[in-house]
Amino acid sequence: MQKEYRALEFFSGIGAFAQVSKLFETEVIHAFDQGQDANSVYELNYNHRPSSRNLDSIKLDQIDKVDIWWMSPPCLPYTRKGNGADVQDPRSHSFLNLTNLVAGKLPDRIFIENVPEFKNSKAMQLLENTLEQAMYSFKTFDLCSSQLGIPMLRRRFFLAASRCSQIEDIEIKSPAQMRELSDFINSNDDDSLYLDEFMLSKLDAFDIVSESSMQVTCFTSSYGKQHKASGSLLRTKDNRIRYFAAEEIVALLGFSPNFKFPRHMKNQTKWRLAGNSVDTRLISLLLEASGLKNKNG
Ligand code: SAH
Repeated sequence: MQKEYRALEFFSGIGAFAQVSKLFETEVIHAFDQGQDANSVYELNYNHRPSSRNLDSIKLDQIDKVDIWWMSPPCLPYTRKGNGADVQDPRSHSFLNLTNLVAGKLPDRIFIENVPEFKNSKAMQLLENTLEQAMYSFKTFDLCSSQLGIPMLRRRFFLAASRCSQIEDIEIKSPAQMRELSDFINSNDDDSLYLDEFMLSKLDAFDIVSESSMQVTCFTSSYGKQHKASGSLLRTKDNRIRYFAAEEIVALLGFSPNFKFPRHMKNQTKWRLAGNSVDTRLISLLLEASGLKNKNG
C-alpha cells in the first residue's frame, strides 16, 4: 500500500529518519549519503541503497518532488573541534547547496538536525532567510535524550518547517521514571570491546560508568579513537572495563531491536556511524510538532 507521505533522507547515515518514518505513514523514496559504510548498513536495514552522489553539487532536476526533506548535515563546520569555520568550511557546502534548492522544490515539510552551535551559525541565517521567503512557518528546538528519561546526554539542535501547518511547541514533561542503563546493555562477551593494556593505562581520560549509573556521556563518531569526551566506558559486573558496543549505542538512540550492522563490520566503523546518528524519539517529537500523526499515538 502506498504511504501517505514521500520523503527524501539527505545525509542518511544509518537511517535514523528511516527508522522513524515507518511510524508516520512516510516512505523514504530516496536516501543520499557519500559514505559507503553508512550505505551498506542502510541497505541491510531498509532494503534500498542510498545514492552516493555528492550533495555539494546535486542539481534540482536530480531530486524528486516529495512531501518531506530530512537533513542532518555534517556538524563539524559549527563546532569548536572543527574550528567553527561555518559557511567557510567546505563541509558546509552540501547543506548550502540544498538550502538553495528549497525554493525550486518546496517540500511541504523540512526537518534539520545538528549540533547546538548550529543555531547561531551563518548557515542557519541563510536557511532562515530561505524559509521566510518561501513562506514556511518554522521553529527550532534544543533537545537532549536525557529529557526523555534516557540515561544518556545527547543535546542537539532541531528545526521543523512546514508550508501547510503551524509548528507546535514540543513540551517534554519530566519523565515519571528514568530508564536504567542496564535496559540497554547486553551481556557482551565480545573480546574486542575490552581495553588493551595501553588503553587501561589511560583510564583517567575516560568517563567510566556502571550498569547502575544514571548517565552516559554523548557518544561521538570518535568513540574508540579519541579518549576524551567521545563517550563513556562501562565497568562490567565482573569489574572489567570495556567500550559500549555500537549495538548498545543505537539502542540508547531508540533504534529498533531488529536494527543490525553487517556481521563483519569493524567496531571502529560501527562506532563512527552510530556516533553520527540521531535520537529517533526526538525525531518522532519533531514530526509530531509539524502535524504528522504517529501511528502508535
Ligand atoms: N543522520 C544520519 C547521520 C548524519 S552524519 C544517521 O541517522 O545516521 C552526516 C552524513 O553526511 C555522513 O554519513 C556523511 O557521509 C554524509 N555526507 C557528508 N558530506 C556529504 C556530501 N557532500 N554528500 C553526501 N553525503 C555527505
